[in-house]
Amino acid sequence: MLPYATIVEAEAALGRNLTFLEVIWFRYSSRMPDYLLYYHSILCIFVVFTLAPLPLALIELGLPASISPFKIQPKVRHPPTLFFHCYKEAMRTFILSVGLFQFTCYPVFKFVGIRTGLPLPSFWETALQLLVYFLVEDYLNYWLHRLLHTKWGYEKIHYIHHEYAAPIGFQALYAHWGDLLFPGIAAFAGPVLAPCHVVILWLFGSLRELASIECHTGYDFPWSPTKFVPFYGGAIYHDYHHSVGYHSQSNFGAFFTYCDYLYGTDKGYRYRKALLAKLKAPSSNYNEEGQTHGFKNDRKFD
Ligand SMILES: [Zn+2]
Ligand SMILES: [Zn+2]
Repeated sequence: MLPYATIVEAEAALGRNLTFLEVIWFRYSSRMPDYLLYYHSILCIFVVFTLAPLPLALIELGLPASISPFKIQPKVRHPPTLFFHCYKEAMRTFILSVGLFQFTCYPVFKFVGIRTGLPLPSFWETALQLLVYFLVEDYLNYWLHRLLHTKWGYEKIHYIHHEYAAPIGFQALYAHWGDLLFPGIAAFAGPVLAPCHVVILWLFGSLRELASIECHTGYDFPWSPTKFVPFYGGAIYHDYHHSVGYHSQSNFGAFFTYCDYLYGTDKGYRYRKALLAKLKAPSSNYNEEGQTHGFKNDRKFD
C-alpha cells in the first residue's frame, strides 16, 4: 500500500513527475495491502506455467508435422492424456510445496526489505538484479541437482522428474514436492541477499519459470531469443540430461552451462556432440542419432 492518497502527493514526495509505468503502478497498488502484492509472485508462476507451454502442446497434438523438424527426439510421440496428467500433477505439487512456502514467507520478505512503493526500479537496476538472482539460483541448484542424482536422492525424490525421457513443457514442475521446494528456496536466496522491488520479484518468478519450461519443451527452435544469452543451456542441453535419466552425471545446470564446464560434468554431453559431429550428423541433431542408437540406455556417454 502506498503512503500517498493521490498522484499529486506522490509526485510532490518524489520531487518529479511519475513515469507512465509509475502511474500504472500507483493506480494498481496504492490501496492494495503489501502481502497481496507479494502473493502476486505465486500467481505469476501459476499463470506462466498454465499458459506458456499451452501453444506448443496444442500444435504438437494438432499439427505435429509443422514443428517436427525442430523436435529433439523426433521419434517420441506423447498422447494428449500425458499433457493433462503432467499439468494436473505439477500444479497440485506446486501449490502444496512452493506455493505454501511462499505463502508463509511474507514476514521474511518484509523483514529483508522487499519494497512495494515508489519509485519503481530503473531498467539497469532491474537487469542487474535479475542477472544476480539467476546466477545465485543457478549455482545453488547445480549442487542440489547433483545431490538429487546420488542413489538416495534419485530413488527417493528425483525419479519423478525423470519419469519421461523426452520432456514436455508441462514437465518443468512435474516433480516430487521436495524437488520443487528446495530449488524454490534456492531461488529466493538472491532476493533475500539483495532485496528488490516486488515487481522484480514477479519478473524473476515469471522469467525463471519460462526458462525452465523452455528447457523442457523438447524442441530446439533456432529463432529462440535465449540463443543470444551467453552460457545458456536451453532445450537441447537439458534434453540430454533427461534422455540419459537415472545414470546421468552430466548437464546439471538449471539455466547456464558454466558450472557443468567448471566442475567437469558436461563431458558426456560434449563427447556425444563431438562423436556425432565426427559421424557428420546433419545439423548436429545428436538426439535424432541418439534415439536411433538407444540414447537413454547408452551409459558409456554418461
Ligand atoms: Zn536430473
Ligand atoms: Zn528437467
